This record gives sequence, structure tokens and C-alpha cells, in this order.
Amino acid sequence: MSAQASQAKHRRLSGRVVIATHNPGKLAEMRELLSPYGIEANSAAELKLSEPEETGKTFAANARIKARAAAKATRLPAFADDSGLAVDALNGEPGIHSARWAGHDKDFRGAMNTIQTLLIKQDARTPEQRRAHFVSALCVAWPDGHLEEFEAQVHGIIVWPPRGTKGFGYDPLFLPDGFQATFGEMSSDEKHGLPPKGTGLSHRARAFLKLAEACLER
Ligand code: IMP
Repeated sequence: MSAQASQAKHRRLSGRVVIATHNPGKLAEMRELLSPYGIEANSAAELKLSEPEETGKTFAANARIKARAAAKATRLPAFADDSGLAVDALNGEPGIHSARWAGHDKDFRGAMNTIQTLLIKQDARTPEQRRAHFVSALCVAWPDGHLEEFEAQVHGIIVWPPRGTKGFGYDPLFLPDGFQATFGEMSSDEKHGLPPKGTGLSHRARAFLKLAEACLER
């Protein structure tokens, strides 16, 4: 299929959008990703929208819930990401429960400790036994019900102890394949690895590049 034909199915995003997140780390990353496209973005937190309950069983379902709720409340196109860290030896956990594992106090140090404790319980010490991936599901929902959805992953291993003070969440624990630095040790430019320097590294940047190709114009 030609690029033109494959884009014909997609709807273009322009003007004002809502970023349906209350997570400041994600908001900063999404704003940075959207900024070259002249999109004016307000966050759900700035607009004082309530956070819908994430009752979906998949990343994609939860992204859809957040985007639809924000589009309905604001009558603007809404952009949501649902993401998390899936550890192979833990059957994909924390997965869609990644935020919940940090608890109400957002104690990611504690959540990282839990992952390490569970891995050691299984005697998972080699890189092969400690494989994991981050997933990002992106959804743009329009007030008329139209949806655009994209998903991507980045694979790597869980290191211990956590390394680096940049980024957020589980970044210090995750060493992407082919790199010497964890996400916690990378600048946000390095973590995203966007063109023209790279082809997309982080799960969110990779999903975003798919969305940009389908729905955005520079
Ligand atoms: P939710 O998508 O808001 O339900 O939360 C996803 C959770 O996954 C975040 O609170 C982080 O803990 C974690 N997470 C998602 N993406 C990243 C990332 O890029 N780095 C580190 N942690 C992440």
C-alpha cells in the first residue's frame, strides 16, 4: 500500500488537544513529542478533569478509557498513553499495574525493590532470566467517537541496583538492548532516540512515531 493510501484511513490531528494524564513525567514527555507539530496541548490535570478508573485488561483498553473520558469532558481531541513495564519472569507483571505497584505515595523505589525481591526469589540473576519490556499504547479520541490507536515496545533487562536519577518511574531499573546506560541514566533525547539522530528508542517514542506518521503534519 502506498504511504498516501495507508494515511487515507487515518484522521489528522491539529490545533488544540488534551493530554489525558495526571502523571507529570508522562506529560513532560508527551509535550516534548508533540511540540514540533505545532500542537497546543493542555493536560487533564491542568483542566482539572477527574481521572477515570482504569478498568481495562490491556494497555490499549486503558488508553482508550482515558482518551475517551477526556474527549467527552472537553469536546476536544484527547491524547492518552497507557504504559508500563512487563517482566518476563513475573508473567508480565507489573504490566498494566505498573503505577499501582508504586502505591498511593508513588513509591517507585519500593516498586523497584519488589521487582528485585521477586526476581531473586526465582533465582533470576542472569540477563536472560531478567528480560523485560516497556509497552506504550497511545490513543487519540475525538469527541465524535473517532479513535486512532498505536502500540510499541522496547526490550531489555532489569538491572540491580537501580542506576541513574533522570527520567521517572522504573527508568533506573531498565537497560535497553544494545545500550550501556539505563533509561535513568539517559537524557530525555537519548531515551526517545528520535529522528534524525535515531529511529525511536523508548516505547513511547516508538508508538508516537507510528502516530505521527498517521496523524500529524509538521
Ligand atoms: P499509567 O499508564 O498511568 O497507568 O502508568 C504507567 C506507569 O508505568 C507509570 O506510572 C510508570 O511507573 C511506568 N512507566 C511507564 N512508562 C515509563 C517510562 O518510560 N519509564 C519509567 N516508567 C514508566
